[in-house]
Amino acid sequence: MTAVGLDTPGPASAAGQLSARGSTNFVHPKWAGFDIRVGLAHKLSKPVCYLNDANAAALWGHYAIFGADSRRTSISIVIGTGNGGGIIIDGNVVKGKNGFGAELGHVLIPYQSIAGINGIKAQCNCGRLGDLESLCSLTAIEKNILPYFLPRYPGHDLAKLDLHQAAKLVRGFADRGDALSKEVFRVQAHALGLFFDEMVNTFDPDAFIVGGGALETSEQFQRWFIDEIRAAMPNQREEQAAIPIHVMPNGDTAGARGAAIEALKLARQGGMV
Ligand SMILES: [Zn+2]
Repeated sequence: MTAVGLDTPGPASAAGQLSARGSTNFVHPKWAGFDIRVGLAHKLSKPVCYLNDANAAALWGHYAIFGADSRRTSISIVIGTGNGGGIIIDGNVVKGKNGFGAELGHVLIPYQSIAGINGIKAQCNCGRLGDLESLCSLTAIEKNILPYFLPRYPGHDLAKLDLHQAAKLVRGFADRGDALSKEVFRVQAHALGLFFDEMVNTFDPDAFIVGGGALETSEQFQRWFIDEIRAAMPNQREEQAAIPIHVMPNGDTAGARGAAIEALKLARQGGMV
């Protein structure tokens, strides 16, 4: 029995039908509403299972840390252009009724409590004000955080570039110790800390996992970032303060690996989707 695992950026239904409203990564109008899972299954004449890319990465992270057939709970966040996530309970991905389960980037957070960003306009592409993605994503850096900090650091090198270009350079600047860029990453880490605090009280999970482009940095910077996340999770009970925060194993191949794990489950079930 061979089965194929497919993951793509969302939004898409749990069964792999791309959103009828289109998506950032499937620009041509003919992709709108396309059933990419069934399309691939026809092309390959093999059963295909589907996960969105963040859910697939979450599944890999869970598997890599806890092993196969684990009954534990983990919450993953992937910080990229947007902010995706995944929740694994009893070894299974939470997909939800419409496939929008664990759209963690669009969960609202009490961002007003983050120090040093008084009056920031934390607008997300989804229309919400102050969700996780609005302060913890590459898009957030470009649209919200850099425009807030640049006027406070007159003459900064990043101010000479357009925001789209500058946003991509912030990670490297921060890793090398630039003060403004570290502030940008502190804000992202604290936003994530507030979000994890909500998740601690919702799921009491075994682990948090953080991945995505934001953490393609030196190990020293990763450690600092995770310490900053922890610093924004006050008032935890003793047991909960010990919940580990891991860096996503295998970086940007995590999604493909997670899709393969899902395919393995499908193969074990005899290929019935
Ligand atoms: Zn949003």
